[in-house]
Amino acid sequence: MSNRTDWIEKEIAGLKEAGLFNVIRTIDSPMDGHVTIDGRSLLNFCANNYLGLANHPRLRAATKKAVDQYGVGPGAVRTIAGTMSLHIELERRLAEFKQAEACITFQSGFTANLATIPALVGKGDVIFSDELNHASIIDGCRLSRAKVVRYAHNDVDDLRRQIEATTEYGRRLIITDGVFSMDGDIAPLDKIADIANEYDIVLMVDDAHGEGVLGNGGRGIVDHFGLHGRVDVEVGTLSKAFGVMGGLVSGKQVIVDWLRQRGRPFLFSSAMTVPDAAACLESVNILQESTELVDKLWANGNRFKKEMQNLGFDTGFTQTPIVPVMLGEAPLAQKFSRRLFEEGVFAMAIGFPTVPRGKARIRVMNSAAHSADDLEQALDAFARVGKELGVI
Ligand SMILES: *Cc1c(COP(=O)(O)O)cnc(C)c1O
Repeated sequence: MSNRTDWIEKEIAGLKEAGLFNVIRTIDSPMDGHVTIDGRSLLNFCANNYLGLANHPRLRAATKKAVDQYGVGPGAVRTIAGTMSLHIELERRLAEFKQAEACITFQSGFTANLATIPALVGKGDVIFSDELNHASIIDGCRLSRAKVVRYAHNDVDDLRRQIEATTEYGRRLIITDGVFSMDGDIAPLDKIADIANEYDIVLMVDDAHGEGVLGNGGRGIVDHFGLHGRVDVEVGTLSKAFGVMGGLVSGKQVIVDWLRQRGRPFLFSSAMTVPDAAACLESVNILQESTELVDKLWANGNRFKKEMQNLGFDTGFTQTPIVPVMLGEAPLAQKFSRRLFEEGVFAMAIGFPTVPRGKARIRVMNSAAHSADDLEQALDAFARVGKELGVI
């Protein structure tokens, strides 16, 4: 055999040497507040399962019932084989939940971005994009072939400067994450919406980490700021707080109609499966019935953050239940995470290039799935390891 794939082996060896090779844990249990890894039960602070819906009994039951009625697979893309009433119902209910004119679902949040951005702008157009936007936004921007102008993170003055400085354009689009997942900070969407209005630019927000978390009962960032009708496109995910898998775009009817005609992952990739759609529909039911899970998520997040600060940890600038525990250098963060694992707590170390050099951290994902005892146990483990490693 020739050596035509040798370069990949070299690249992988390089990653391993630099400590950047992803080692993925195998979970032998449902994704929940606790998970089983290598035969041990650990407290889980890694998942985006904010509301504990990933293993909720009502979602399990709704899924089984739907499979008996509709089977499993969607058969083909929706424009060719037709669309199931289940998906239409999910979209109708999501639009109602989010108080938007309309909603369309995709296979994931990632594909929702790949569908939406190239459907709205193309060659000769300009996108103003927060410098810390998610990889799926960056890829959607590249696919669109529009010019991308990055503005400083959450900096509305810089956004304005960049808009003023960009005089050649066809159509224009502003895109920001709603919640930035590595720091837990929230985009100043009210101020960005003012700028979008002033310059008459289409505004899109990707609310993946705000969906089911921010706003009244988890209705998202638009609800959080009371911006109903002022944000043209809201991208979201059903894979995080909703506990399942899928993406959504809600907003103006005309944009949703356009995505059914021109969103490439809608036209060329099959729909969410029946179990996905049925489980998401049950998530919407649960969220519409009560704010209990969202309230518990915030109570857990706030308690964890406050007690970590009392212990002397630096928890950065979070405004959400995401709590970054700032440690500095990547080897320390990795060691901290390994020690926590031994102490029964699964919490991920995050380093360069996901966050800047020297800003390595443990990212703690709080969840309504955690009990008061769980939090107590996690805080004890953080205190022990923090003292042992000289962090506090
Ligand atoms: C997680 C995430 C996505 C991707 O969502 P999936 O449904 O997992 O594909 C997209 N955008 C942002 C901002 C995210 O955090």
